[in-house]
Amino acid sequence: MFDKILIANRGEIALRVVRACREMGVKSVAVHSTADADAMHVRMADEAVCIGPPSSTQSYLSFPAIISACEITGAQAIHPGYGFLSENAAFVQAVQDHDITFIGPTAEHIRVMGDKITAKDTMKDLGVPCVPGSDGGVPTLDDAKRIGEEIGYPVIIKATAGGGGRGMKVAQTAADMEKAFHSARAEGKAAFGNDEVYIEKYLTTPRHIEIQVFGDGKGNAVHLGERDCSLQRRHQKVFEEAPGPCITPELRARIGKVCADAVAKINYIGAGTIEFLFENDEFYFIEMNTRLQVEHPVTEGIFGVDLVREQLRVAAGMPMSFSQDDLEINGHAIEVRINAEKLPNFAPCPGTITQYHAPGGLGVRMDSALYDGYRIPPYYDSLIGKLIVHGRDRPEALARLARALGELIVDGVDTTIPLFHALLAEEAVQTGDYNIHWLEHWLEQNL
Ligand code: ADP
Repeated sequence: MFDKILIANRGEIALRVVRACREMGVKSVAVHSTADADAMHVRMADEAVCIGPPSSTQSYLSFPAIISACEITGAQAIHPGYGFLSENAAFVQAVQDHDITFIGPTAEHIRVMGDKITAKDTMKDLGVPCVPGSDGGVPTLDDAKRIGEEIGYPVIIKATAGGGGRGMKVAQTAADMEKAFHSARAEGKAAFGNDEVYIEKYLTTPRHIEIQVFGDGKGNAVHLGERDCSLQRRHQKVFEEAPGPCITPELRARIGKVCADAVAKINYIGAGTIEFLFENDEFYFIEMNTRLQVEHPVTEGIFGVDLVREQLRVAAGMPMSFSQDDLEINGHAIEVRINAEKLPNFAPCPGTITQYHAPGGLGVRMDSALYDGYRIPPYYDSLIGKLIVHGRDRPEALARLARALGELIVDGVDTTIPLFHALLAEEAVQTGDYNIHWLEHWLEQNL
């Protein structure tokens, strides 16, 4: 095992990794921008290095700053968390060129899965079912129109390099195609420097079901069931749960095996998530994330495993600490994302936390880097905490969530907490009867 690792991230996920390190007897190095000098991850890690000014491009995204921090502190490996450099193949290469271990998959796997077209082609070849759509990139509007007619409207035009819900536009009919095609390309170019797009059939009532996989890089892999992340706003998840309310043990075993076999075949190492849309009992692959997900705690909740610990183990060349047969689902877990945002428009709301009280009690986990007096900087993501609950079954988890949300106090800034109070009063949320469009409609009518 490593003696010391560096965490190239901030906020709750940096803290999450610090916690795993401490339990494993591994020293942790935090990095931070000048705007984060007072951040909790800096206080909690064993060492901290300032790597630049507030702008992420000059700090959390700077290869030289992060690699230098490793060299200075003698950290042997880098955990990237999620976001920032976690899916940057060039960074992984640079890290390896400096004889530092990247805690995650290889640069090649990240490259293949980071391009949604090559990802889809690879998954198709590995026997994973995909959403019907164009065969690769769609270069011109004429091609787009032809493909739209072939697969039938509605269709979704997606930037090959897209992520975080950006670079996706829906064309309900042929008349929408020109606008959707050009705006998906423009968004891809502006956000990711790549205007290549492809087209998929737009599924009208799917759920978002993703399978957690884990590989040891030596041809062994397991799946840890699914997470249902169908409650989304602008293609971004706000409420996640495991197991999925609609997934039977048979469906789970079937798709889980397809996914575990696929990643085993490519010698995948570490944590990964294979995302699907699920409609009429069929799974359709949309993308693979080659990193730890924001919502990983719900999987940890039902399986009683520590995914960050496993990431460190396999990165250090050790075997995974469980096999497929060891993995048994216990109860139900739900996570809600607490963002510093002002409703109804979800405008980012940075500011000073005047009072913070985390909920506790049986089955409650609060992953957050907040503290009384903390100033949320305006430069980064608005996620300030994740409340995760675990119960013996879904009704118990829902009741526990309502109770824990009632205890949670975050004063000084606007947050998404009231949204969850309101959602829990909804019949559809109580029964789990919703699809990926439900929340958008609900928001239109209720906020
Ligand atoms: P990103 O990389 O930006 O997260 P994804 O490809 O994972 O993009 O898609 C994010 C969300 O967008 C999905 O969870 C779903 O809500 C919606 N979406 C993506 N593809 C389709 C599709 N073919 N039909 C309907 N909705 C889709």
